[in-house]
Amino acid sequence: MNVLDKAKILAEAGGYDSCGPKQCEVKIKEGLGGIYNAQTEHKTCKIFKTLMSNSCKFDCKYCQNATGCEKKKVKYKPEELVTLFDYLHKNLAVNGLFLSSGVSGDPDKVTEEMIETVKILRFQKRFNGYVHFKVLPGTSKELVKQASELSTRMSINIEAPNSSVLNELSSCKDYKSDIIRRQKWISKLNLGGGQATQMIVNNLATDKEVLKMTDWEYNELSLKRVYYSSFRPVKGTPLENEKAESLSRQNHLYNVDFLLRSYGYKLKEVNPIMDEGMLPKEDPKLAMAKANFQGAIDVNEASYEELIRIPGIGPKTARRIRGGNKIRKYTDLHKLGGWVKRAKPFIEVNGKRQKMLTEF
Ligand code: SF4
Repeated sequence: MNVLDKAKILAEAGGYDSCGPKQCEVKIKEGLGGIYNAQTEHKTCKIFKTLMSNSCKFDCKYCQNATGCEKKKVKYKPEELVTLFDYLHKNLAVNGLFLSSGVSGDPDKVTEEMIETVKILRFQKRFNGYVHFKVLPGTSKELVKQASELSTRMSINIEAPNSSVLNELSSCKDYKSDIIRRQKWISKLNLGGGQATQMIVNNLATDKEVLKMTDWEYNELSLKRVYYSSFRPVKGTPLENEKAESLSRQNHLYNVDFLLRSYGYKLKEVNPIMDEGMLPKEDPKLAMAKANFQGAIDVNEASYEELIRIPGIGPKTARRIRGGNKIRKYTDLHKLGGWVKRAKPFIEVNGKRQKMLTEF
């Protein structure tokens, strides 16, 4: 099989891993699936995302690469993948590589080939762009370290919020030793782009369980990002007849994730809006304001932390208000970037709520 035929199969197979920036959903295709525009730390990056091999000895029930699935199994040699990437880099302005793999045998052997690929790219081809290196379950500590020295970002997918959910999905991955232990190793390494992970959102776990694990990952392991992927049944897998999970559930988890990660919300603020462990259908920030606020907030007196919890007021507007811009009427808030309609039910000025647009 020639390299381009392999590329089509392996890049398509890599698309099931959403452990990349949120914008890493397909935006562009250059005739070869697997090339995405992604927002990395400081700039937009055109990333080629692929597997080294789509053959895997594990039996994750949702995965088309798992053992027993009737897919054509292919594998790059390091030199083949380097030649292909070098071509994409020079001719299609691809400036990032997201490299993952199925675990066809010994995870260290597969990882050595992945490392070899990145080494050739770095030292022979002088490629100094973005490399996201997927750590495979079971990889040795020494190889994780070696890979980190060549990579911008690393990730290992936890897939589930706890071991009992993972046990439902796979009979051979050990949550603590195969995954969490390796996340702990990565968190101690010096990576410019930090560490990320992915969780599958499905009917085996509640939003509360998912967010509890997310919170732990951010606070205990300093992860840069947790990505959520709504379960989609894949033909040829044991779960092919199961119902797909809604994308809106995934989006609500992203909304709360953003509040935890970027706004400094605490998980205990999210818990009161959950019903039987599930987030409400409405916007989580709005639901939390309704559940947690005791009366209206005086925008000129409020702290930064109070301001960013008001629906319609984000960090930029909150900073402008705290920076000395007084709010005398709704239009002042609008000028500072606030969304008046959203904020209105929750705010007051000098003890008064505004009755007319021009005054409080
Ligand atoms: S370890 Fe990864 S590639 Fe292998 S079966 Fe599980 S999800 Fe698929």
